[in-house]
Order: sequence, then C-alpha cells, then structure tokens
Amino acid sequence: MNLEQETLIRWQDAAVEIAEHGRRLIADGLAYGTAGNLSCRVDDRVVISPTSIPYEEVVPDDLWVLSLNGEIVRDGTAAPSSETPFHLAIYAATKAAAVVHTHSAEVVAVSATLENLPAIHYSIARLGGPVPVVTYQRFGSDSLAAGIQAALGAAGRPRSAVILQNHGAVTYGSSLREAYDKALMLEWLARTYRLALQIGEPRILSTEELDEVTAEARRRRYAMGTGMGGGGR
Ligand SMILES: [Zn+2]
Repeated sequence: MNLEQETLIRWQDAAVEIAEHGRRLIADGLAYGTAGNLSCRVDDRVVISPTSIPYEEVVPDDLWVLSLNGEIVRDGTAAPSSETPFHLAIYAATKAAAVVHTHSAEVVAVSATLENLPAIHYSIARLGGPVPVVTYQRFGSDSLAAGIQAALGAAGRPRSAVILQNHGAVTYGSSLREAYDKALMLEWLARTYRLALQIGEPRILSTEELDEVTAEARRRRYAMGTGMGGGGR
C-alpha cells in the first residue's frame, strides 16, 4: 500500500468514526436536528462534518477534508461545518486529535446564566477544572474562534472544555471517543450542579482539591483523558 492509499484510508476511518458519533449526538441529548459538529485531525489534515445534513443521514463520503488553514483538500457534501473556524483554531492552539461541539440543554442553561461551571464533582479535573463560559459571539465567526482559543490557552491548568455563552460547548481530546466522553461528562456535571442548586447552596471543590485529584490520577496512571471519572474510582 502506498502512502497516498494509506492516507485515504485514515481519512475514511476518521469519517466513519465521525458519522457514527454524529448519530449518537442526537440520541445522547447533546444536540438536536443538524446542530453540533465533530472533527478529527489526521496529521496535517482535518476531517470535519458537513453543515445542514441531519446526522442520521450523514455517511462518510459527506465528510470534508481540510488543511489546517481551512483549504479544501477533499470535497464532501453541502459545505464544511459552519463552525470550521473554531475547530481549526483549537487544532492550532492545542494537541487535540478530535473536537466535539454540542448544543446540550443543561450546558446551554449554564451558558446563559453563569461565568463558569463550578467544580461540583471531582471529575471536572479531567476537563481542567471549572469550565469557563466564553462571551457570546455569533456562530461561525472568527471572533468566536478567537474567544475559544484564548479560553483554552489561558494561564493556569490546561483545559479541554469551554462553554459558549447562549450557544453550547466545545470539548477536545486525544481521540474522538475521548472528546465525546468529555462532552457527555460536561452535560452531566451541568445537570448535577443544577440539581444541587435546587437542594441548597452547593459545596464547591477548591483548586487544591482538584490538583490533588489530578496528582492522584497521575500516580495511579489513570489516563486523564479516558479513565478518571469514568466510574466508581
Ligand atoms: Zn453551535
């Protein structure tokens, strides 16, 4: 197999994975209709979902392949996701191998009311601690991409999730599965926080407590990306 065939196969594998996770977005309550989008980085290329096609209808051939600068390398169907600018901005600023963008209800509720999602549960350490809400900017805009990039790159602990005001959330990971799991976890954390608020004033974990969680996870060699917070530990 030559290099070109190998590359085509890797793009195809990424496209299959994106199409599969796209179908899950709706079932898992992370988006509805055609909202939300996913991408994977394959070397210096980005495979990204198309815009405006319901996920249940998306097949791997609909996916677009772009350069890291956004030039079209391989056509898909319709057009690349309208949120391509922030997907590319995240790949430029981080070591992300995959990016997931959601419009899940609990997270959107937080995005409309809070400056960040507080540390209601220790597993939020996996996302880098309390998750900041990026100031509202129109979907698809370069200013939204710049806001996300700045929030992910802010000083302090590395983050792999941000909430977008009156919009949704973005997570990234070292695989699509990991980025997707983080999106699910973020929605669970937002719901848990709302439930706690209904009971009373929630106790929130401190930075020191979260640092301790991170250190212990490392000591036990839990993958911060995939293991910690995954269950009963
Ligand atoms: Zn969106």
